[in-house]
Amino acid sequence: MRPPSVDAVARGLADIDLPHPLLVDAARAAIAAGDPDSARARATETAATLLRGVINATGVMLHTNLGRAPLPAGGGGGGPRWRYSNLELDLATGRRGSRRNHAASLLARACGAEAALVVNNNAGAVLLTLAALARDRAVLVSRGELVEIGGGFRIPDVMAQSGARLVEVGTTNRTRLADYAAALDATGEAETGLVLQVHRSNYRIVGFTEDATTAQLATLGVPVVADIGSGLIDADTPWLPGPPPGWLAAEPAARQTLEAGAALVTFSGDKLLGGPQAGVIAGRRDLVEACARHPLNRALRPGGLVLAALQDAALAYLGRDVTRIAFWAMAATPVVDLRRRAEAVAARCGARVIDTIAVAGGGSVPGQDIPSAGVAVAGDLAGALRRGDPPVLARVHDEETVLDLRTVDPADDDVVAEALSAARG
Ligand SMILES: *Cc1c(COP(=O)(O)O)cnc(C)c1O
Repeated sequence: MRPPSVDAVARGLADIDLPHPLLVDAARAAIAAGDPDSARARATETAATLLRGVINATGVMLHTNLGRAPLPAGGGGGGPRWRYSNLELDLATGRRGSRRNHAASLLARACGAEAALVVNNNAGAVLLTLAALARDRAVLVSRGELVEIGGGFRIPDVMAQSGARLVEVGTTNRTRLADYAAALDATGEAETGLVLQVHRSNYRIVGFTEDATTAQLATLGVPVVADIGSGLIDADTPWLPGPPPGWLAAEPAARQTLEAGAALVTFSGDKLLGGPQAGVIAGRRDLVEACARHPLNRALRPGGLVLAALQDAALAYLGRDVTRIAFWAMAATPVVDLRRRAEAVAARCGARVIDTIAVAGGGSVPGQDIPSAGVAVAGDLAGALRRGDPPVLARVHDEETVLDLRTVDPADDDVVAEALSAARG
């Protein structure tokens, strides 16, 4: 008898509350094990690893496996006032679990990595990676990538803190594979921990320029770590209804960078990923494990609040549910929709509808304009709007106050119209 198709088995699991790719994983594993009937148990087991609220009736008030002190649960309408979570508890076995089992493994799945580790921010991810994998050894970095990202994150300084030795390669505007190869020859392979590629993030070098690609660097024989910064999960943006937006064209993505041969990628949780402040290290399992074992990891680990928010984002990516990630919901809104909303707002408060330019911001996709729309009124009302309740932040341009609707939740359009009316007096 032929085994059933992965697709048919996965469809039979549709009642289990997991994104489709995870049901497919369970179906595929069950069929590969020659036991298609085990697919349901496998999927249920995966669902049980997700971070969720649990009721603690053990009498241990600060329960380490349950995230120590519980989080407030709102308590409105007679609901519970606190909730614990299975932060470090394996609900299937009742034994000690790991806070790496939920958000991190889902993110690894979403970007096609063997494993992933979550820390507090990407600065921490880079620091931990360098300390764990290259302490007392050389790390090759292009002179064109010795960047300052902002907020005091400077690659040479982070390198010094990690105990790795910076070896500068090439020139500011041009660095070729041969430059890396020469540097590797000079330091020796045994003395070289990593090649580090750093996304320039908040500026561009234009003109007479040349960079080595990740695929080229992967031929050198030392692990390549790519700090891609912004956390674009997949350049194909399968979670968007249409093709990838043009303004993303030059942005490195986790999945494609790993496919090109990077051993690890590091990125922020709160840039293009659209999740909470966090840093992610994803890629080869042995290297991720080495980072996880390093003592710094204990100092950089995130708490349950962050991991829960990051799990939500990872599930939204896997479920291709863009509406659950505010950044992508905003980024994917067609300009015609924004214009229609701007007309409604303008009609309510006597403003003028205008075309505007939005940007990703946060040091992501620098210099890329995103067409947008909003409303404008004469004069500088920015201060009055900012002091309102709720505060509304606007731009002032050519003696006009401009409000761009791309970053406004449609549910707040009425509040914006009222705030504008009030500010005009
Ligand atoms: C933003 C960024 C960082 C710093 O990330 P944080 O999450 O703010 O700590 C590091 N490297 C690159 C390339 C970045 O773009």
